[in-house]
Amino acid sequence: MRAIFALLTGFNPKAYHDASRAQQPRLSFTSQGHTMSIKISSQFDAGAIELVSATSASSIDLNIRRDSHADISQWFYFRLQGAQGQASTIRFLNAGKSAYPAGWDGYQAMASYDRVEWFRVPTSFDGEVMTISHTPEMDSVYYAYFEPYSWERHLELLDRAQLSEQVRMLDLGSTVEGRDMNVLVIGDPAAGSPDGKKKVWVIARQHPGETMAEWFVEGMLDALLDPADAFGRQLLKEAVFYVVPNMNPDGSVHGNLRTNAAGANLNREWNTPTMERSPEVFVVKNKMLETGCDLFLDVHGDEGLPYVFVAGSESLPTFTPAQAAQQKRFSDDFKIASPDFQDMHGYGDSPYTDETLTMGSPHITHAFGCLSLTLELPFKDNANDPDPICGWDGARSARLGAAVLQPILQALRNPA
Ligand SMILES: [Zn+2]
Repeated sequence: MRAIFALLTGFNPKAYHDASRAQQPRLSFTSQGHTMSIKISSQFDAGAIELVSATSASSIDLNIRRDSHADISQWFYFRLQGAQGQASTIRFLNAGKSAYPAGWDGYQAMASYDRVEWFRVPTSFDGEVMTISHTPEMDSVYYAYFEPYSWERHLELLDRAQLSEQVRMLDLGSTVEGRDMNVLVIGDPAAGSPDGKKKVWVIARQHPGETMAEWFVEGMLDALLDPADAFGRQLLKEAVFYVVPNMNPDGSVHGNLRTNAAGANLNREWNTPTMERSPEVFVVKNKMLETGCDLFLDVHGDEGLPYVFVAGSESLPTFTPAQAAQQKRFSDDFKIASPDFQDMHGYGDSPYTDETLTMGSPHITHAFGCLSLTLELPFKDNANDPDPICGWDGARSARLGAAVLQPILQALRNPA
């Protein structure tokens, strides 16, 4: 077995018993005589950082990397090796020049030893430089802007969903770099009431660094497909769900905050998407025009505000009082379904501009007249009910995703 393992992996067990090394003085694994020098790396799925210098654990200087094809920087995800037991000072020299410097106020970075359990580490920001002060307990530690949602996990989410007999997985086309754009169709569009079932569209991660959006979708799908979940069961009697868990696969793999592999901010492409610049929106919008839409949720993460909130379509000149009432009812129902949701804090009123119809949720209200919301989850925490260990994280996003089924059901039964 060992030989086969070595063949498959290139792993050479003999190296561990090298006689010449055995005769050397044994290096201690304590903090005094550690055997590894400081190393920073990011060549993995969604990895992104630029090394400036790392002479010792107490002096690690980095720059936050730009999106792969756009001049936007905010997302970081990297690995630090060789600092076990050492008080490490990791400085992000260009944090003040990132896309949302206010995102670093009150922000605590996330860390993990196994990329399964993530926790917050002490982080400060002086207006220019952001600093993580952390003593790693192990040889290798990962730091990220937010708990990552890997491309592998994305594929596993799709695969797991299609094991349900309620689910069809459709391929809509490809991204700029040729990754698959899949939509999960949940429930039988042909079965149900004579009027046909309601069509619910949920999309996430137009902005790929907002990984909480896909954690949210994972929780929503698990509840929707759970045979023991009463809201899931009832919803699939009354509605068909069209779910795009990741709208920006290229940007996700590159470790971008905001843009795809053509440098496009997909949430400014909805009015005139093209196959060259924004195929991800082009193919999804075409499918929506084919199926129709009775309710649309576009899930995001907000860098600044430490709250869960929605942004609606009230800036549209055509927005009716009935639509406003439906929006309000959704918020009221969501607050009951999950106390993590609130409507005291949000973006406030924004005027109608040339940009409005380029954004997903107002565009869909304009096109279909339906309830259509941008749902924002925090990068930081829910300040109404903070968690000092994890802050806002993937698990809490997933629980919120499960809780959204109740307000969705209410909204479908009470159209504008
Ligand atoms: Zn966003």
